[in-house]
Amino acid sequence: MIKLNENFNKLKKNYIFAEISRRTEEYKSQNPTAQIIKLGIGDVTLPLSDCVLNAMHEAVNEMGEAATFRGYGPYEGYEFLRSAISKNYLKYGVDIQADEIYVSDGAKSDTANILEIFQTDENILIPNPTYPVYVDSSIVAGRSICYINANKDNNFLPLPDYSVKPSIIYLCSPNNPTGAVYNRDELKKWVDYALRNQAIILFDAAYETFIEDSDLPHSIFEIEGSRHCAVEICSFSKGAGFTGVRCGYVTIPNNLKIGDKRVGEMWLRRQSIKFNGTSYITQKGAAAALSKEGIEQSLKNISYYKENASMLSETLKELDIWHIGGKNSPYIWLKCPNNINSWDFFDILLTRINIVGTPGSGFGTNGEGFFRLSSFGKREDVKKATERIKKLQYLI
Ligand code: PLP
Repeated sequence: MIKLNENFNKLKKNYIFAEISRRTEEYKSQNPTAQIIKLGIGDVTLPLSDCVLNAMHEAVNEMGEAATFRGYGPYEGYEFLRSAISKNYLKYGVDIQADEIYVSDGAKSDTANILEIFQTDENILIPNPTYPVYVDSSIVAGRSICYINANKDNNFLPLPDYSVKPSIIYLCSPNNPTGAVYNRDELKKWVDYALRNQAIILFDAAYETFIEDSDLPHSIFEIEGSRHCAVEICSFSKGAGFTGVRCGYVTIPNNLKIGDKRVGEMWLRRQSIKFNGTSYITQKGAAAALSKEGIEQSLKNISYYKENASMLSETLKELDIWHIGGKNSPYIWLKCPNNINSWDFFDILLTRINIVGTPGSGFGTNGEGFFRLSSFGKREDVKKATERIKKLQYLI
């Protein structure tokens, strides 16, 4: 008889955002007039920039003319977008050629799918807490996971432990959920460790556009030695507001090899089997987002979100609540006051001040007692939220 993949039974029961919705809906049904402010989910709220819209409109028109219509595109993405991404790397002093870039429909699928090119018995190292996709996609693929502790003592930026010998290492910086960002020295330690263990770092840079401190690295390829041990996964979602448009890319240096096999060649083979490319219209929009004008418009949106983050952070400082993130990242990661656990704090925020955030425990055991606030909300909501958060001191 046919059997289902039993690894699905090993997943944690309630996906965090489903449980958040359930509790929020239940509260709303009992309190229909409550004005709930959502600072939970990491989706953007500002619309696409004019320059992206114009490029996409033009691309739609091209699709309506026989002479300019396009069907299936190249699996790795159109040359015009890969060249634009390659040029964008130069901003960070990184030399990545267009043929080292593989365009996709977003970083979520890439971070999960990339595992398919590695042997199934490879040991995977994942920081705890983490973006849940790394863990869940490893579990359903029947992979073995070892965790490394991110905690308040290491400012949620764990460094390699040489007694553990993984083959695959997930790193995310700026980090979701903690907002923590690795500096160059710290990333160099990870690169040295990966080289020593002949391991591969899967570096998720989905939030790199939020980095403002000039000495912080945007790309793992700013670090010496990384071209021999790292794959970078990036996205247009958070910087250019593409969460609903869908476009990302994987960068695999041509000299990254396992044995005599190029990792990039393996990835392209995998993509050609299971993926038929990102739409021309989307790729035109993404290329426009990387034009001078597109970057300027994205930076305006990013600074809007960062102003939100700064207002939230200032409020937490006033209340003397420990937190990190918010400066080079859209997320603020706070310690729940009075040692309250994450879900109890969620309930307090929801029921006492009508704010929805994300319990840290949903991102791993080390997230227990912590809480994530997102700065992707509307300014007027964030303003109201800060006023309400100030009342917390009298409520708990
Ligand atoms: N990586 C991280 C760390 C994320 O937080 C997210 C989305 O929230 C993604 C990847 C997914 O990005 P995309 O929208 O490109 O699939």
